[in-house]
Amino acid sequence: MSKVPEMFGSMVFNDRKMQERLPRSTYKALKKTIQDGEPLDLSVANVVAAAMKDWAIEMGCTHYTHWFQPMTGITAEKHDSFIQPYGDGVIMEFSGKELIKGEPDASSFPSGGIRATFEARGYTTWDPTSPAFVRDGSLYIPTAFCSYTGEVLDKKTPLLRSMEKISTEAVKLLHLLGKTDVTRVTTTVGPEQEYFLIDRELYNRREDLKLTGRTLFGAKAPKGQELDDHYFGAIKTRVAAYMKELDEELWKLGVLAKTKHNEVAPSQHELAPIFSTSNIANDHNELTMEMMQRIAEKHDLVCLLHEKPFAGVNGSGKHNNWSLTTNTGENLLNPGRHPENNISFLLFLAATVKAVDEYQDLLRATVATAGNDHRLGANEAPPAIMSMYLGDDLGALVQAIIDGEDYVSRGKERVETGVGVLPDFRKDTSDRNRTSPFAFTGNKFEFRALGSSLNIGCPNYMLNTMVAEELSQFYVELKNETDMEAAVRSLVRNVLTEHQRIIFNGDNYTDEWVEEAARRGLMNLKSLPEAFGHFMDRKNVELFVKNKIVTESEYRARYEIELETYCKQINIEALTMIDMAKKDITPAVTAFVRELTDSALAKKALSDAIPTSVEEELVMSLSNKLVCFVKKTAELEDAVMNARDHAGDRLERAVYFRECVFARMQELRAVGDSMETETASDFWPYPSYTELLYGV
Ligand code: ADP
Ligand code: MG
Repeated sequence: MSKVPEMFGSMVFNDRKMQERLPRSTYKALKKTIQDGEPLDLSVANVVAAAMKDWAIEMGCTHYTHWFQPMTGITAEKHDSFIQPYGDGVIMEFSGKELIKGEPDASSFPSGGIRATFEARGYTTWDPTSPAFVRDGSLYIPTAFCSYTGEVLDKKTPLLRSMEKISTEAVKLLHLLGKTDVTRVTTTVGPEQEYFLIDRELYNRREDLKLTGRTLFGAKAPKGQELDDHYFGAIKTRVAAYMKELDEELWKLGVLAKTKHNEVAPSQHELAPIFSTSNIANDHNELTMEMMQRIAEKHDLVCLLHEKPFAGVNGSGKHNNWSLTTNTGENLLNPGRHPENNISFLLFLAATVKAVDEYQDLLRATVATAGNDHRLGANEAPPAIMSMYLGDDLGALVQAIIDGEDYVSRGKERVETGVGVLPDFRKDTSDRNRTSPFAFTGNKFEFRALGSSLNIGCPNYMLNTMVAEELSQFYVELKNETDMEAAVRSLVRNVLTEHQRIIFNGDNYTDEWVEEAARRGLMNLKSLPEAFGHFMDRKNVELFVKNKIVTESEYRARYEIELETYCKQINIEALTMIDMAKKDITPAVTAFVRELTDSALAKKALSDAIPTSVEEELVMSLSNKLVCFVKKTAELEDAVMNARDHAGDRLERAVYFRECVFARMQELRAVGDSMETETASDFWPYPSYTELLYGV
């Protein structure tokens, strides 16, 4: 297969294949479910299942699997073959029931204490809004996952519910504004994905990378990213070959892989797809991350999706570009040439501003992970303080609205290149403020605080729900008004005035902003335990319960799971460090010190006149550091042991892991890295940062 249009979607049971393979009435019924969210009939499902199976068998499949996203964040699958006994042989069968419902054992997936293990039953249900696809001889059916008693146990169900909710609320408002032809509003997402590629052989020699995804020790390389020579730099042959194969495999799976480039740090890269509906974007982002890792294997590479694989160079994030589109094709966040007169745009802008201000803590919590804590606030990713960037034009418009002044948008200005052969072009109305966590970028908002390994389901269902909530409040305020335009303008003005503190167009990396944000009363939740300290606040619980996204116990389960995962991850990191320290680093430094000592003694035996000061100084320095290192290792071991005493309250336990265990890890690392700089590379047990970052 050489031509991209033919290759694209070849592994997907997409709309074209459904049209070809399904009877007209079945196709129509299925389409109604996909587009309008109508329930699906079992008789329809039977026909769809048969057609899917025939196609999958033609594609070489023997199995099918329900594919779901439990609370671990990564995808899960359990494969069943199509075989059915028939006479003394078998036939290949797949029923509507099997398509609609699967029954994986739910007991080994995190449930946050919702259910006991003896109630192991769980169900997966077909999500017809995300197309089935073929991979490795199996038909993959995207599904949602819940327990026997109906509790939601996955990332997908709340996302789908939030999409429904925001659609309902947006449609109601748009009808008030006279846009009565709108029947559905869809949220769209384009997630830009950053990653590192390193050599597999080097990776295999690093216990920390293998067990935790990041380096727990490692002195800085002499060269980092200070020359800015990697960002958008020419792509190396080996990386280019990887990217080419990745693009092709993603295209076959129907993923709209669009942009690829080198990122800021050495060995760091980015892939961005063209946006799609939130649900498909979520599935495709999961597929993208999986394919990134698989294809790396084929190229003797490893793809690192951890947020901070290397200390001292940039970590990896994910930019969640988000907008809303009507079934009539209008992007509701497109300001048009004159946003001052675009009433619906102003209303959706105001709803988003209000949502981000009122739920800053939730937005911060939804991107909090042990890995992402290394980035937020580290002057490479947006800070932990949530704020919004609107750009000059929109910023000025908002100010004018607040001040009650008239404002006429400049529209798009032309940029004159001043070079005859270069065409002039229109400038975007907003620049890119790379430091803002939540930036308006022309016709969408870009939520930039996500970590690279995060499942985007959670930030998106939260964002959708909070905006839906604001829209529903707006509806209540506006529904009985007679002069709608005046009422909307007054509402927008009030909302923007009340929530203007969340808007910040300046540099988010400065200390002045931290102080200014504190004066404005914005939250600065630096780590996961701090962010989760607000997760169960009443207003947050109520947001999801009232809007029927998750129940209170399901919401609490999510809280418990995130905190537990955080503690487990830090625990694994600490144990890995201890293992490396005791089994590799301490013996290596001891051996090197021994070699130096032997060398000095041998020199002395030969003649007193031969200087041994170099050996002696190094022996002294390393021996002192080693004493400290062994002591710090023991302290870390103690801290890990003492975690037993903090087994009660989950939040308190997370705070303990942050303040006691993680803090000790940092101290141990500092001594270890300092020893690395003095130890001969032949003796150091691990590949260095120079090898890892410049080894491809
Ligand atoms: P950058 O952030 O580097 O400026 P782009 O502006 O090209 O990059 O777009 C980044 C991402 O935003 C892409 O995935 C793109 O498809 C996505 N995007 C563009 N329009 C929308 C939209 N209306 N809704 C959601 N995502 C969008
Ligand atoms: Mg971007």
